[in-house]
Amino acid sequence: MTTERDPRTLTPRDAWKALRDGNQRFVSDAAQHPSQDAARRAELSAAQHPFAVVFGCSDSRVAAEIIFDQGLGDAFVVRTAGHVLDTTVIGSIEYGVQLLGTPLVVVLGHESCGAIAAAAHTLETGEQPPGFVRAVVDRVIPTIVNITSTGRGVRGVDGQVDPDLLRREHVRHTVSMLLSYSAGLSAAVAAGRCAVVGVEYTLSDGRMTLVEVAGDVGEDPVV
Ligand SMILES: [Zn+2]
Repeated sequence: MTTERDPRTLTPRDAWKALRDGNQRFVSDAAQHPSQDAARRAELSAAQHPFAVVFGCSDSRVAAEIIFDQGLGDAFVVRTAGHVLDTTVIGSIEYGVQLLGTPLVVVLGHESCGAIAAAAHTLETGEQPPGFVRAVVDRVIPTIVNITSTGRGVRGVDGQVDPDLLRREHVRHTVSMLLSYSAGLSAAVAAGRCAVVGVEYTLSDGRMTLVEVAGDVGEDPVV
């Protein structure tokens, strides 16, 4: 979005459409790089009114403003390896929704995610990653436990953990955990003021796929 506006006047559908349109431009190599000039910088110096919180992986290939073709002041971005949650991450997301009034939260997973691969490796071998990388892996493992407890599998026909299935479930589980941890966020969704979506991003073509929706964004998950 290129014009200044109060996010509280936008619906979750408006916000999702803006991100969807921006991603289409990026996919078709027609990015407009909006809101990145000196005038926009000056306009925003007094206050920010982002219209979406994007919570994604730290992976260098999945930069939120670039893949959604947005600019300064548009997205309130939180990133951790493997989009794993902790209290400060949830607090940052709540800041975007409750204090800045953003109508949409996007949980952004992607193919070939190193954090998820590391968790799958630990699951298969018992080997732990070094240092505090383990803290990241430890926060992906509950997704696998959750899937197992619900009877759904993450193993392919060869019996190995399927990284595509695991990634998708990790996005869904992150949305679910976020809503269960954050009373403020779930209340905003229940009131229709905010929606939470889970999205998968494909590295090679830049496309995103909607895999989870809480609230109304005018679109249902496709897988
Ligand atoms: Zn990743």
